[in-house]
Amino acid sequence: MSSSLAQPASSIAERLAAVKARIAEAATAAGRDPGAVALTVVSKTQPSEAIDQAMAVGQRVFGENRVQEAERRWTVERARPAGVELRLIGALQSNKAADAVALFDVIETLDRDSLARALAEAVQKAGRTPRLLVQVNTGAEPQKAGVLPRDLDAFLKSARGTYGLTVEGLMAIPPVDEAAGLHFGLLSKLAARNGLNVLSMGMSGDFETAIRFGATHVRVGSAIFGERNPVSATSEG
Ligand SMILES: *Cc1c(COP(=O)(O)O)cnc(C)c1O
Repeated sequence: MSSSLAQPASSIAERLAAVKARIAEAATAAGRDPGAVALTVVSKTQPSEAIDQAMAVGQRVFGENRVQEAERRWTVERARPAGVELRLIGALQSNKAADAVALFDVIETLDRDSLARALAEAVQKAGRTPRLLVQVNTGAEPQKAGVLPRDLDAFLKSARGTYGLTVEGLMAIPPVDEAAGLHFGLLSKLAARNGLNVLSMGMSGDFETAIRFGATHVRVGSAIFGERNPVSATSEG
C-alpha cells in the first residue's frame, strides 16, 4: 500500500491494512512481538456491507457495544461465520446477561457484583462460558462504567471466590481530556498485580500509546470505518 499512514486510505480494506501496519510498527518500536497485539474491529453501528468488507480481507475479531444490535447483526442479518470472535465492549444490563453469554466469546465489561452474579447464573444454565474482562474506571469518572481502581482487587476476589468466574484481563476507556498513557500505565499495573495477562485498551486515537503500555487487544472503529453517527456511537447503555 502506498498511501501515507497519516491520511485515511480510501477503502475499508486499505484502512484496515494501514491500522494493522501501525499496530505492528508500534509493537516493534516498544520491543514487543507484533503478534502479541490483537486487533478488535469495532463494528457497532456499521452497515452490514462494511462488516462484509472487513471479513473479506480476513478480519475475524469484532467488538459490539449493544447486545440486541449484535444479535441482529450476527444471527439475523447473517449466519455467524465460522471462526468469528465476538467481543462485548459496551455496558451490559444484568437482565441481558443470558443473551450475552449465548452470543459473545468475550465479555469485556464485567463491572459490578450484580452482573457477576447474573453472569454466573447464565453460564450455569447455558453450559457456555465466555472469557471475561473486568472494566476499570481508571479516571474515576462518575458517568463512566467500571470498577474503581481501589476496589478492583476485592472485586476480582469476589468474582472468583463467590461466583466462580474466571477473569482473564482488564479493559478501560481513559477520560477524553487526560493523557491516555497515565491510564494505560495504571491499568497495566493493576493487571500485573492481579496476575492477569489480557489488557484491552487503546482506540483509534490512542492505540499506539496503549501498545507501548502493554495492550494485548486494541479496539479500533473509526480509523477503519470512518466517523460514526454521534447519536448512536456512545459506548454506554
Ligand atoms: C466505540 C468504541 C471503540 C472504538 O472507538 P474508535 O475511536 O472509533 O476507534 C472502542 N472501545 C469502546 C469501548 C467503544 O465503545
